Amino acid sequence: MKKTLIFITLLFTIILSSCNNEKQENTQILPDKIAQTTTKVEKPVIYTSFYPIYFLTKSLVWDEVDVINLVPAWWEPHDFEPTLKQVAEMWKSKMIILNWLGIESYEEKLLESIKNVPIVMISEQLKNLINLDNNKKVKTADLHDDEHWHDHGNIDPHTWLSPKQYRDMADILVVELEKNWFTNLDKSILQKISDLDAKYNKDLEKCKMIQLVSSHAAFWYFARDYWFRQKAIFWISPNQEPSAKDISAVITLIKNQKLKYIFSEQFVSPKFSEAIKLETWVSVLNLHPLETLSQDEESKKLDYISIMESNLWDLKTWLECSN
Ligand SMILES: [Zn+2]
Repeated sequence: MKKTLIFITLLFTIILSSCNNEKQENTQILPDKIAQTTTKVEKPVIYTSFYPIYFLTKSLVWDEVDVINLVPAWWEPHDFEPTLKQVAEMWKSKMIILNWLGIESYEEKLLESIKNVPIVMISEQLKNLINLDNNKKVKTADLHDDEHWHDHGNIDPHTWLSPKQYRDMADILVVELEKNWFTNLDKSILQKISDLDAKYNKDLEKCKMIQLVSSHAAFWYFARDYWFRQKAIFWISPNQEPSAKDISAVITLIKNQKLKYIFSEQFVSPKFSEAIKLETWVSVLNLHPLETLSQDEESKKLDYISIMESNLWDLKTWLECSN
């Protein structure tokens, strides 16, 4: 009996000491383990549909969240569709943020297939949208009365090209992010956009020319908020080529109004603007629609604010604005 007791005590001591050893070993390797897990901790992921939405989101959440832009650099969003792999990854994200209004051609498919992740459509909440059929303002509430409210008809989706309206979009996004528990936001971007809007108001207040001829019809909101008129060579998507009638209407406008410049853009074929140039005396200049950034622009760390500032500088010169 005594022997058995001694044996049990011994066994217990061995087990205990071996546990201690293990504990010691564990303690020794613990810092490394912590370091490994810290680097492996995955940040929450938010998906955004294209550049202006990505820029707003990224500026607000800064580096606490991984913000993934669905459309790669230099890809034009009007003809983009996510791959099945991307859709599968989006299932695992915390939020999906779109602009809405048809620029994301896959929007309905996404709404049907992803039910577990909040999908925010920022421009859905904007108040004064432009209906391209009759150039009237549309109340978003009216759209929602329709049971097929995803069918937003012919409303201009280029809401971000007016800094005034982009500021409203930023306010909407702040509320939506906070609603979804992203509360530690860096809100300095709000003031930067307000400053940009103030600069646009001031610098474009008195311009000799008020008629813009743009490449694709991306500047309606800009034109409305800063008192210009827009005529586009392409229609709402740069993938819809203009007809001979459209081109001749642009040429007539240039001749009647004695315009000196028309605007082209980096990711749209220059063949029509070059044809117009041959028929008239205009110079063809670039105006950035901010739908996507080139790899070169990304590597130079250009962003929405700096490109919109450079657009403003060019517009001031070309439209002969005095201030
Ligand atoms: Zn566009």
